Amino acid sequence: MSVTGLPPYDPANVFARILRGEIPCRKVHEDEWALAFHDINPLTPTHVLVIPKGEWVSAADFHAGAGTEAIAGFWRAVGAVAKAQGLEEGGYRLLANMGPDAGQEVPHFHVHLFGGRRLGAMVPRG
Ligand code: 5GP
Repeated sequence: MSVTGLPPYDPANVFARILRGEIPCRKVHEDEWALAFHDINPLTPTHVLVIPKGEWVSAADFHAGAGTEAIAGFWRAVGAVAKAQGLEEGGYRLLANMGPDAGQEVPHFHVHLFGGRRLGAMVPRG
């Protein structure tokens, strides 16, 4: 089990395969802590995924288990990507799905970076 009751990290998940270079991606940023690439099915004009390089299933898993340097490095990368994508003036939205209620599909922690248009309501009401 990961720290949150999700299944343990599966090294065959699609983002692990992208990290290992087994599957191509449209990379926008890479550093010691993070890799960022365009989502294959973009929901907004800019839709980039930022993932940590470590093997973390979810947001909860990452924040409970990763070292402070890894956490800081990851979030600095998120900010750098948003800036490099030209989203600081118009604004942007960060989103991380965690677990079944949020509909997390890929079991490697990732942050969605959305921008490039007015994004509307934060989440459907109800
Ligand atoms: P989740 O629902 O887990 O928060 O989001 C997973 C995201 O990964 C989805 O937006 C989906 O389009 C994206 N995705 C799934 N497989 C691939 C892939 O092979 N390449 C890329 N670039 N994105 C993917």
